[in-house]
Amino acid sequence: MSKTSIPLEKVRSNGASYLDLDTMKALVFDGPGKIDYIDVPMPEIQKATDAIVRISKTTICGTDLGILHGKTPSVKAGTTLGHEGVGVIEEVGKGVGHFKKGDRVIISCITACGTCEYCKKQLYGHCTDGGWILGHLINGTQAEYVRIPHADNSLHLAPEGVDEEALVMLSDILPTGHEIGVISGCVKPGDTIAIVGAGPIGMSALLTAQFYSPAKIYMIDIDENRLKLAKQWGATNVINSRDTDVVKEILAETGDGVDVAMEAVGIPTTFDICQQIVRPGGHIANMGVHGQSVELKIQDLWIKNLTITMGLVNTNTTPMLLKTVASGKIKPEKLITHHFALDEIMQAYKVFGNADKEKALKIILSN
Ligand SMILES: [Zn+2]
Ligand SMILES: [Zn+2]
Repeated sequence: MSKTSIPLEKVRSNGASYLDLDTMKALVFDGPGKIDYIDVPMPEIQKATDAIVRISKTTICGTDLGILHGKTPSVKAGTTLGHEGVGVIEEVGKGVGHFKKGDRVIISCITACGTCEYCKKQLYGHCTDGGWILGHLINGTQAEYVRIPHADNSLHLAPEGVDEEALVMLSDILPTGHEIGVISGCVKPGDTIAIVGAGPIGMSALLTAQFYSPAKIYMIDIDENRLKLAKQWGATNVINSRDTDVVKEILAETGDGVDVAMEAVGIPTTFDICQQIVRPGGHIANMGVHGQSVELKIQDLWIKNLTITMGLVNTNTTPMLLKTVASGKIKPEKLITHHFALDEIMQAYKVFGNADKEKALKIILSN
């Protein structure tokens, strides 16, 4: 990017002056336990299929906290974190056909080349030249600007008149809850389902499961505030697993368990609940990002004709979800609990890291 192409209004409002206009601010990972909001070089077009996007809204994901806590060793020190956001295209490479400077876009957490074997199967999460790379293997969205490879297949045009903050939820959490929880779990009309974990992903599964009219939705968590919200947003039954034996209660109420048990935390305890509450013929859909092994009770499960699924979001349902958000059918902006300016991101990480005490679900950072 040439120095003259940086809009003047991007000279920072906090009074700091750019000594070198080729730098910008970004939240950089500096090894386990260490992040800082510092000056880094502006991203530049590297390949003809790249676009540079000026971030207007971004957010922090549980996955980012996992990286901070050393759960994801593939993230190298010096990487800008973040894989979610909405912004405006600043520059496109010569090979980008669908987008132009000035377009408002939703950045998908998954980068897709569109032509490899996995992309042709819509397994974009496993794209051989993409997948989850933003804020992981390449610099991400918690910055003033970001480079998006394979822009044509990795961005979605933001519809006019739709709340920009609602659109941020389409980068990752809504497609993850929908694809890895609801679709993989095969939620059907009349089903009894249970979602173990009422964080942003569990809540996204709660919102999108209702497309398929399950009869009963259990939400399980240890946070009373989140359970209260889940009840407002469509859960028919909520259970606080801190003071209740979830397995006993669900088996007593349902007779033989739930059709679909979704794991939305990523720890052995919650996976274990799922394998104890699923009924014969049912599905366990794991959405959580696990950092250690779980015990599979195959001696109890082998006879149950179960399907167990897990995986990384493909974002192949993002265009459909975008229509449901644009039409107001679902309102994911209700998951947003906190707002910060991008340059307050260090404080935002503290708040998100204390999500239960702070009653935080999704945090919006505005640039
Ligand atoms: Zn995420
Ligand atoms: Zn691909």
